[in-house]
Amino acid sequence: MHELAIAESVLETITARTGDRQVTEVRLEVGKLAGVSTDSLRFCFELAAAGTALEGAGLNIDEPPGRARCASCTEEFLLHDRILLCACGSSAVEVLAGDELRIISVEVSR
Ligand SMILES: [Zn+2]
Repeated sequence: MHELAIAESVLETITARTGDRQVTEVRLEVGKLAGVSTDSLRFCFELAAAGTALEGAGLNIDEPPGRARCASCTEEFLLHDRILLCACGSSAVEVLAGDELRIISVEVSR
């Protein structure tokens, strides 16, 4: 239940700042390489939010694609999985984006 732990940590992080104020919307960024099922995360978020100031809050999830750069040929390319291999045959590949997991914004009712 990896996603439940993430949902709970997101909830805790938000309520630590917003307290009892009713949260209406949460926007997260979950990169394609973060290894998180967004469907499962939505489900867990709803579950964890029940009975808190985030109950019923809308959840928007941006899913930026993975991007990487090869240190051998300097080529930049899209990564669809965590297999770090460039078309040139090198595995000296650096992940530039796609493994982020963060809260972008939160809306609270006034
Ligand atoms: Zn390369």
